[in-house]
Amino acid sequence: VLSLCCEACKKVIFHVPSVLEAGTLVGRVNLKECLQSAELIRSSDPVFKILEDGSVYTTSVVSLSSEKKTFTILLKDIQEHIEKKIHVNLVTDEEKKTRHARDTVLKRTKRRWGPIPSVMIENSLGPFPLQIQQVQSDTAQNYTIYYSASGPGIDQDPKGLFYIERETGNIFATRAVDREQYPSFQIICFASTPDGYSPEVPLVHTIRIEDDNDNAPYFTQDLFEFCVPENSKPGIMVGKMIAEDRDEPSSLHTTLKYRIVSQTPPVTPVFGIHSDTGVISVLSPQLDRELVSKYTLLIEARDMAGQPFGLCTTGTAVITIEDTNDNAPSFNHMQYEARVEENRVDVEILRVSVTDLDELGSAGSIAVFEIIRGNDDRSFEITTDRSTNEGILCVVKGLDYESSKQRILVISVNNEAPYVLAPHSRQLAQSTSTVVVHVIDVDEGPVFKPCFLSLEVKECEQMGTLIGRYLAEDPETGNSEGICYRIAPGQCNWISIGEKTGEIRTSKVLDRDVGDMRRGRCNITVLAIDRNGKTGTGTIQVIIKPGNKNYPRIAKTEYIMCRDRKPICLTAQDADESPFSMPFVYRVADRSLSASWKVTRHNDKSAYLAPRGEIPFGKYTIPVSVSDNGGKQGVTYVTVNYCDCDTPSDCNEDIPRVIPRASSNVTLGVWAILAMILGSLLLLLILITICGCSGSGVMRRQVTDDCANHNLIISNTEAPGEEVMDHNIIPLQSTNDQGGYGIKTGDQQTFEMVKGKGHTLESVKGGGHQTLGSVKEGGGQPMVDTCRYSYSEWHNFTHPRLGEKVHLCRQDEEQKHSEDYLLSYNYEGKGSLAGSVGCCSDQHEEEALDFLDQLEPKFRTLAETCVKR
Ligand code: CA
Ligand code: CA
Ligand code: CA
Ligand code: CA
Ligand code: CA
Ligand code: CA
Ligand code: CA
Ligand code: CA
Repeated sequence: VLSLCCEACKKVIFHVPSVLEAGTLVGRVNLKECLQSAELIRSSDPVFKILEDGSVYTTSVVSLSSEKKTFTILLKDIQEHIEKKIHVNLVTDEEKKTRHARDTVLKRTKRRWGPIPSVMIENSLGPFPLQIQQVQSDTAQNYTIYYSASGPGIDQDPKGLFYIERETGNIFATRAVDREQYPSFQIICFASTPDGYSPEVPLVHTIRIEDDNDNAPYFTQDLFEFCVPENSKPGIMVGKMIAEDRDEPSSLHTTLKYRIVSQTPPVTPVFGIHSDTGVISVLSPQLDRELVSKYTLLIEARDMAGQPFGLCTTGTAVITIEDTNDNAPSFNHMQYEARVEENRVDVEILRVSVTDLDELGSAGSIAVFEIIRGNDDRSFEITTDRSTNEGILCVVKGLDYESSKQRILVISVNNEAPYVLAPHSRQLAQSTSTVVVHVIDVDEGPVFKPCFLSLEVKECEQMGTLIGRYLAEDPETGNSEGICYRIAPGQCNWISIGEKTGEIRTSKVLDRDVGDMRRGRCNITVLAIDRNGKTGTGTIQVIIKPGNKNYPRIAKTEYIMCRDRKPICLTAQDADESPFSMPFVYRVADRSLSASWKVTRHNDKSAYLAPRGEIPFGKYTIPVSVSDNGGKQGVTYVTVNYCDCDTPSDCNEDIPRVIPRASSNVTLGVWAILAMILGSLLLLLILITICGCSGSGVMRRQVTDDCANHNLIISNTEAPGEEVMDHNIIPLQSTNDQGGYGIKTGDQQTFEMVKGKGHTLESVKGGGHQTLGSVKEGGGQPMVDTCRYSYSEWHNFTHPRLGEKVHLCRQDEEQKHSEDYLLSYNYEGKGSLAGSVGCCSDQHEEEALDFLDQLEPKFRTLAETCVKR
C-alpha cells in the first residue's frame, strides 16, 4: 500500500482486480488518522460504501477499465465544524504490477532488495493463478537471474499455494486461502544465476491474507439459562449472551450486534437485550411467576455491526422466573364444622386446606395457621401438616359439654415467609375462616365441688363430731342424688365420711400429741360413685387446731406462813398454748374457807394468798381453783403451815426445808472454784479440830443438826480456827454458842468473817435503823441469838451491802477494780508528812519526776509506765 500526502489527509490507493463483485471489501482507510472524531462519513461515489472502521465496500458490481477510478471520502465533525477529505484511488492489477516493479527498483538501496509485505484477499475468486507480487534483483541487469522461493505455502504446508516464476520473479497464488487458517505466509525468495551463483542475500517476504467476512458469529453455549425474581424492576440485568466470530478481531467482520428475534410465550416483550454487549435485562414491570414461570428467547447475533449483509446466527436463552411470596394463602371454605366428645384431649378434629398460588413447597406457600378468636382457654391448637399443607385442628384441653355445647373458632392463615409485594400492588388480605366445634355429651362420673376442701377441727372434740360435708354432683343431672362416698383406705383413720350423706366426722378423739395426728393435718382422697359405677375423686384437708386440753395447776403447793402473815405467791402453769393458757383467774374453791382466806391478783400468771384476819397457827389446806383464758378450770390444794417462826421446830415439822439454791446466774471462775475447794478443805480441817477440842474438853461446842445445816450453807467463809477464840476479835458466847457468828449490840450489828490468825477479811457496818427480822421485836435489848440468823436473813442483810461495796470499789477510772480496794488503811491523822501512800498516784507529783527525762531511752518506757498510773 502506498500513500501520498495531501493537504488535508493522506491519499489512499487501493490495488484491486479489474472487476469487483457487489459487497466486496475494497480496502480499509484509516479514518482516525485523518479526523479523530468523524461523525459523518460519506462517499462521493454511491458505488462505494464506507463503514465506521474505514472499510470500503462495493454496493454493486464495479468494472474497472484500464483507467483508474477515483472517489473521495468526506469526513465531518459536526461539533468542531471540521471537514476533511480523503482521496481514494483504485488501481487495477496491471498498473500495480508495473508500480511494484518500479517500487522495488526505487527502493533498492544498500544492495538490499525486497518488496513491502504483499496482500492477498482471503477467499479470492481468482482468476488463478493470480499474481500477487514480483521480486526483482538489480543484478539482473548484469546477470541472468533465476528466482526461487521456499517456505510455508510453497514447499511447506500448504504446499503449492504459491509459486514464483523463475525468470520474472512474479509470485502467483494458485488457489484461494482461508485467513482464519493461514493469516500470513513468510516466504524466502532467492535470486541466483543459472550456474548457481547467488549474487543477492535471500529476501524474506511476507504475504498477508486480507480478511474476508466468511465466518458467521456463533454463541459460546448452545443454551443460555438465566433466572430472575418475579416482580423485578425494569432494568435489572438477567444475564449476558456471548457470541464470537472467527474473523479478524477488531474489524467489522467481528463487530457483532444482538437482537431478540422472538420470545416464547409471545406475550408483550418482557426482556430487552443490549445490542452491543448482549446483556439481557428486564423490560416490563409485570414479571409474574404465577402467570408465566419461564420465557424462551431466540436471540440473533450479526456481524458487520448488524448490517443486513452481515452474517448472523441465533441462540436460545431460557429465563426462569423465581418465585417470591406475593400471594396470600386462602381457605378453600368460609366455614368448617367439627365434632368432638367432651373431655377428649390431644385428638385431631378437623383438617382445613388452603390455596396458595406461590411455588408449591416453598416457604412462600407453606401455610401457618392461627386461632384468632374463640380459644381464650387454649383448648385448641392448630398446626400445619407439612406434607399436605393442611391445617390440623386439635383439642388439647378437654371440653365440657355441660358448660358449652358448641365452640366457634376463627382461624387465619399466613405463610411462613413474609410477603413480598409487587410494585404498586395492594396490601394482601389475610384469609380467615370460621370453625364450629360441636361438643358431644358423654356420661361422666361425679365431680366434687370444690375439688379441694379444707376443714378445721379442734382437738379434744368428741368422737363423731361433724366437721363438714363434702358432696359431689353428677355433671349430667347437676345434683348429688344416688352418689355414694368413700374414703380410699390407708388414709387418716381418724376421719370418716357418711356413705350417703357426705358428712365428714371424726372417728376418734383428736389429740395433736398422738400418732399421726402430730402432723396436725391430713389430706384425704375421697371417692364419689354414682349409680352407673362411675367415680370421681376429691381431696379434703383436715387441720387439727390446738384445743384447751389442760387446766392450770399451781406448781408449788406447800408453804410456810410466819407470824407476819406475809401473803403467799401462788403461780400456776398450763401446758396449753395461747389462747388456752394465761391469764389465769384464781379463786378459793371452798366456800367455807373463802371467808377466812382471800386471793388477790398479782399478774396474769400469779396471785397472792393471804388470810383475811387473825387465824390460829396451824396447817391449812385450801382448795384454789384456777381457770385459764379458755375457761378451763381445775382445783389445786395448797397447804399453808401458819406458825410462829420463832419456834422453828413447829414450822419445820413435816415441811420440807427451804434450801437456798445457788443463784444460777452466777458464774464461777476457775479461781473461785479453787477457792471454794480450798475453803472446804479448810472447813473440814477446822471441824476436825473442833471435834478434837470438844473431846479434850477445852472447848465445848454443841452443834445441832439444824444449826450445822445452816452454818454449812454459808460455807464460802471459813469456820473459826483456834485463833478465833481470841476475844479481842470475836466475842463468843461460850455457854450456848451453837456456831452462829451474828453479834447484835444495840443499833449496831457487825458481821465478821474470820480467817486464819484474826485477819479481818471483811467488815460490814450496818446503819442504825437496821433490824434483823422478827428478832428485833424483842425490844432493842442487846441479845445474842444463836442459830437465829438463818442463812437467808444473813444473806438479805449482807448481800446488798457487799454489792454496794463492790460497786463503790468499781468506781475506779476505766471501770476496773482498783488494786487496793480490799486493803485497809489506818488513819494516820491530819498533817501527816508522809502524804499519800499510793505510788505515783498523785498528779501534782508528776513534776518531781522530771529527772526521768534525763534517763536513757531504755529506762524511759519503765518511767512512762509508772507515770501513767
Ligand atoms: Ca474471514
Ligand atoms: Ca464474520
Ligand atoms: Ca406473582
Ligand atoms: Ca404465598
Ligand atoms: Ca409468587
Ligand atoms: Ca362434662
Ligand atoms: Ca356429660
Ligand atoms: Ca388450758
